[in-house]
Amino acid sequence: MNLEYLVLFGMGLGLMAFLFWMLFPIGNRREKEDKNKIKGYCPICGQGLRKGERIRSSVTEIGDIEVQTIIKGCPFCLEETRKRACPVCKIKLKKDETIIAISDPKVDSKRLSIRGCKKCYPQGF
Ligand SMILES: [Zn+2]
Ligand SMILES: [Zn+2]
Repeated sequence: MNLEYLVLFGMGLGLMAFLFWMLFPIGNRREKEDKNKIKGYCPICGQGLRKGERIRSSVTEIGDIEVQTIIKGCPFCLEETRKRACPVCKIKLKKDETIIAISDPKVDSKRLSIRGCKKCYPQGF
């Protein structure tokens, strides 16, 4: 082993330690933020939803052509008084009024495209 090799080895170790030091604290911080991060927004009241705050919906599969999801709202606009509006035509919605979203199971059944409420998308009701 010559000196040159030892220096390189030392530098390598230093770099590794630096990388580990850089990666891990940030990784942990990100994980904590993710747990409380807004995962989506309620299409009816626009409330940001975190883990455990789920949109209430019921899913109807129409053959294997499309999946129809009736969105009732989130815990915020169903249990609290919040402005509920159709994201398509912006009309005010009552607590028992829903909107319809369609997804294609062949593409991604979780990717919803919102069609509207009873007023602007009556064919879905
Ligand atoms: Zn809501
Ligand atoms: Zn509408």
